[in-house]
Amino acid sequence: MTYTEILKAARLDPETFRGGELTVTTPVDGTEVAALRQHTRADAEAAIARAAGAFDKWRRVPAPRRGELVRRLGVALREEKEALGRLVTLDCGKIVQEGLGEVQEMIDICDFAVGLSRQLHGLTIASERPGHAMRETWHPKGVCGVITAFNFPVAPWSWNAALALVCGDPVIWKPSEKTPLTALAVQGICDRVCRDFGEDAPEGLIQTLVGGHELGQALSASEDVAIVSATGSVPMGRAVAGEMAKRLGRTILELGGNNGMIVAPSADLEMALRAIVFSAVGTAGQRCTTLRRLIVHEDIYDDLLPRLIAAYETLPIGNPLEDGTLVGPLIDKAAAGAMAQALKQAQAEGGTVHGGGAVLEDDFPGAAYVAPSIVEMPQQSAIMHHETFAPILYAVKYKTLEEAIALHNAVPQGLSSCIFSTDLRETETFLSAVGSDCGIANVNIGPSGAEIGGAFGGEKDTGGGRESGSDAWKGYMRRQTQTINYSRELPLAQGIRFDI
Ligand code: NAD
Repeated sequence: MTYTEILKAARLDPETFRGGELTVTTPVDGTEVAALRQHTRADAEAAIARAAGAFDKWRRVPAPRRGELVRRLGVALREEKEALGRLVTLDCGKIVQEGLGEVQEMIDICDFAVGLSRQLHGLTIASERPGHAMRETWHPKGVCGVITAFNFPVAPWSWNAALALVCGDPVIWKPSEKTPLTALAVQGICDRVCRDFGEDAPEGLIQTLVGGHELGQALSASEDVAIVSATGSVPMGRAVAGEMAKRLGRTILELGGNNGMIVAPSADLEMALRAIVFSAVGTAGQRCTTLRRLIVHEDIYDDLLPRLIAAYETLPIGNPLEDGTLVGPLIDKAAAGAMAQALKQAQAEGGTVHGGGAVLEDDFPGAAYVAPSIVEMPQQSAIMHHETFAPILYAVKYKTLEEAIALHNAVPQGLSSCIFSTDLRETETFLSAVGSDCGIANVNIGPSGAEIGGAFGGEKDTGGGRESGSDAWKGYMRRQTQTINYSRELPLAQGIRFDI
C-alpha cells in the first residue's frame, strides 16, 4: 500500500494535510506525509470552554447510557482495526502486528469500560450514630486532558478516554506532535460515533488538539481542566505536575521506565530467551516497559548471554510495513544519536557492546534504523540508571537474590519488572513487600505487553499514576462521603455535646 492509500483507508483526506506548519514525517523512511495546521493556544482555550459546557450535560446522562457511547466506539474501532493499525505503523514506525495490537488494546478497554459503566460502585459504611446512614458515592470529576507520547500513539488515549467517558468526563486529547495522524483518524471515528449517538452526546465531548507542548501546557494551566493524564518523559511529567500543583489539579502521570529482569539459576532459559528478545527489541526498544536491564545469576550467565547475542544477530530489521520484520526504525535521527551516545558512555563505564549502530542507511537515508545492542556491564553504573529510548539491553551478574533485588530497585524509575525462576521462594520474595518496587511485577513473563484488566503505571520517577483496569476509574471521579440522618435526634459524632 502507498502512504496515501494508508491514510485514505483510515478515512483521512491527504488533500487536507497540506500547507500547515506542523511537518509530519514517517519514521518508515523519513519522508513528509503531512503538513498540518496546528492548533493555537486560543484554539485550546476554546476547546476547553466547549468541554466545560459538555461536562454540564454529560454528567447528567446515566452512566450505562454513557457506556453505550463507548460500546459504539468499540464497535467502530473493530471495523477500523486494520486501517488504524497500519496507520499506527506509518505514524510511529512500530511493526504492523504491534500497530494492530495497539488498536486491539483500544477495543479491549472499550469493552472493559462498558461493563464498568454499570459498576461505578460506592460503599455503605456503618455509622456510629443511631438512625444515621453513611455511604460513599462517586461522581464525575470534570474535563480530562490526555497528553500522550509518540511511542503509543493511540492506546494510552483510549485507556484514559474510555474510562473518563463512562465516568462522566469530557476528554481533550493532546497527542504527540510526532504522531498526530492516528489521533486525527480516531477523532474522526469519535465524531461519527457522537453524531450518531444523538443529543445525549454534547458538542465538545471528545476533542483533539494538534500541536506541540504548549497545548499540553494550556491544558495543565487551565482551572477548567479537572484532570490531566500525561504519558511521556520524566521531565515532561515534572513540568505538568508543577503546573498542576499551582492550582491543585489532579494528575495521572505515566512516565519513563527502566525495566529489569532477574534471571535466576532455576529459570527456564528457553522461555527467558524468548521473553528477553521480545521485550528488549520489540517496538525497537521504544516502549515505556521495554526491558533495559538484565540481572543474571553468575552460574547461568555464560550459558544465557551467548545465546542471546546469537539471537540478536538474526533479528529481521527493516520496513515495519512488511511482513516478517520484527524490528522497525527509531522515531527519528535524534533517537539514533541518543543511542550512539549512550553506547559510548557505557563503554567508558567499562561495558562491552555487542551489536548496535545504524543499518539500512542506503535503503532509507532519511530514517533511523539501528541494530539492537546488548552491553555487558561490569556493574550497574550511571548509564544504567538512565532510560535511553532505544534498543539497548545492559546485562550484569549477581550472586544472591537479595543483591539482585537491590540492584533491580536501585534506579530512579519504577514501572515494570520481572523474574524468571521456578523457585517459589524466589518468585514470592520478588513479589513481596521486600521485592520489586515497581507498579508492575511479573513472574516468567517479560516486563512489556501488559493486559488492560490490571491497573497500569509505576512508582518513583514513573509518576505514580494508574490507568486502564482494576479500579483506575476512580482517578476520573470525585469521591463523596454522605451521611444521612433519618432519626428525630441530632447526635454529634464522637459523642460531643453542644446543647443550645
Ligand atoms: P515527551 O515527554 O517528549 O512527550 C510526551 C507528550 O508530552 C507530547 O505530547 C508532548 O507534546 C507533551 N509535552 C512535552 N512537554 C510538555 C509540557 N511541558 N507540558 C505539557 N505537555 C508536554 O515523550 P515522548 O518522547 O513522546 O515519549 C517517550 C517517553 O514516554 C519515554 O520516557 C517513555 O518511557 C514514556 N512513556 C511512558 C509510558 C507509561 O505509561 N509510563 C507510556 C509511553 C511512553
